[in-house]
Amino acid sequence: VKPSVGLIVHYVSYGTPGGEFNRECRAAVVTEVQGENLTAIQAMLPEKVGLAVLNPTGMFFHPLAAGGCPADGGQVDHLQPTNMCGGAVFAGGTWHWPEKI
Ligand SMILES: [Zn+2]
Repeated sequence: VKPSVGLIVHYVSYGTPGGEFNRECRAAVVTEVQGENLTAIQAMLPEKVGLAVLNPTGMFFHPLAAGGCPADGGQVDHLQPTNMCGGAVFAGGTWHWPEKI
């Protein structure tokens, strides 16, 4: 499924380096998608979208013009499940589809 404007996805917040805060799944609304005319390099990279991230205490905007957010399909870490979707590991600053429950 390709992302489209208005869909709800998860954005992964950055944890703090010292581990005081873990990365977390946050609700986000897709505000922009990349156009059809991607360069060859853009087409090989994970799909980027613009997001409006809904944190519990405020909203943050990540427009494509400022780099957007790349997709991350997640890696399952069998040693230690995370607090994120499916116990998977996602990079901070990326988006993914919410886990189906
Ligand atoms: Zn998630």
